[in-house]
Amino acid sequence: MVKPKTEEEIELLRENAILVSKTLAEVGKIVAPGVSTLELNRVAETFIRDNGAIPSFLGYDGFPAALCISVNDTVVHGFPSEYALKEGDIVSVDCGTFYKGYNGDSAYTFPVGEVSAETRKLLDVTKASLYRGIEAAVVGNRTGDIGYAVQSYAESFGFSVVRELEGHGLGAEMHEEPGIPNYGRRGKGTHLVDGMVICIEPMINAGGRNVYLANNGWEVKTSDHRNAAHYELTVVVRHGMAEQLSTFDFIEKDASIKF
Ligand code: MG
Ligand code: MG
Repeated sequence: MVKPKTEEEIELLRENAILVSKTLAEVGKIVAPGVSTLELNRVAETFIRDNGAIPSFLGYDGFPAALCISVNDTVVHGFPSEYALKEGDIVSVDCGTFYKGYNGDSAYTFPVGEVSAETRKLLDVTKASLYRGIEAAVVGNRTGDIGYAVQSYAESFGFSVVRELEGHGLGAEMHEEPGIPNYGRRGKGTHLVDGMVICIEPMINAGGRNVYLANNGWEVKTSDHRNAAHYELTVVVRHGMAEQLSTFDFIEKDASIKF
């Protein structure tokens, strides 16, 4: 049985969620051809620290940076590097904060300049699959209902769901129970209860679902080297409709950010 969060804990998780949401927008403002992914990481780390928080990914199991930055065929856990983004790339940015004893964790995939129609579709469908998952994150459902919602939507467009990684509970620890797979069967899995705080984070591939771990032991890449997208939000399970803690509004309501 997963213990739901108290309303006091939820407020602290909300503060973290807003900070990661704003951090992703700060990153989005500078995504452009020619910008290195190290520069994205630098902007995020500075913004997080300026807000009195700690970048929780840095040093987590030895992870070397504040952000996971995953370009094109890298699904998740990419290292920031000297690589300069180029027109037509997509860049998935995953951000974590630790503040007042609690965690924030959200991700967004940005297009770099103009992307192909197929890539545009991958971004739109992956984000929409996340919202389908959030719609299923209500009391009375189970984790399998979330997975089913994400999977059935994404696969209806011919895309595939990465199965090796999943969403998770969030609290004082970055990864808590229950796991939230992006595939599944309705009515199966952990029961969702009021006050449970979870991260839903579909990782959707343009091609096949198979992935492999790069030699650095972190980066997860698509086996067919086609693009992958990743969006993540933190929500509270509630009766009738989940309550979103993190938001993409800071990105999508900023006219200077291409999304
Ligand atoms: Mg994340
Ligand atoms: Mg996560």
